[in-house]
Amino acid sequence: MHDHRGGGGHGAEHRHEAEHHHETEHHHGGEVSQTQLLTAALESLLVEKGLLSSDTIDQLVERYEKDIGPMIGARVVARAWTDPAYKQRLLSDSASALAELGIHMDNLVVVENTPAVHNAVVCTLCSCYPWAVLGLPPTWYKEPAYRSRMVIEPRAVLREFGLELDGTVEVRVWDSSAEQRYLVLPERPAGTEGMTEAELATLVSRDSMIGVARVAAPARAR
Ligand code: FE
Repeated sequence: MHDHRGGGGHGAEHRHEAEHHHETEHHHGGEVSQTQLLTAALESLLVEKGLLSSDTIDQLVERYEKDIGPMIGARVVARAWTDPAYKQRLLSDSASALAELGIHMDNLVVVENTPAVHNAVVCTLCSCYPWAVLGLPPTWYKEPAYRSRMVIEPRAVLREFGLELDGTVEVRVWDSSAEQRYLVLPERPAGTEGMTEAELATLVSRDSMIGVARVAAPARAR
């Protein structure tokens, strides 16, 4: 595991950078990938032909950022909350634990939040993101301010997200790369004891799996 808690620095910067040229899901600063060009061309063609409106596309993107994408990760979290043996497999061998749920991803490290340890995820170099479990990254994840400040002053950044951490809680910031992605296993909130796995999954937000939020207790338990 490469843990960059607090320190910043990318364990394997050159490798990271090199592998990015083979990645199609994101790009570095000014570099536009072929996939992005094709996507943009396809989008303008569909809009031009009147088959789709820009608003429709924006709505679709938003659904993949906030709903459809993160639902996959939320299912994983809910299973881990309700099945301790599954949770252990997920933490120790995520690839096979994910495969049990039909998710194929072999470079994911799952890090567990506890009352003593809070984990959060960043990609300091660009925007590596576990899209197979979280969908499309939110805009702020790709912004330079988040990418740099999250390793320098994570508590301040988390506070801006509305997450106030007690001074005794250890904050671990995980720097993603092309070869290693991270998913935070958030704490199961109090008041959810009677809930089913499917009900629990609806509580799990994208932000809680990036580590910039807690999972809120269901309204009736507050
Ligand atoms: Fe990246």
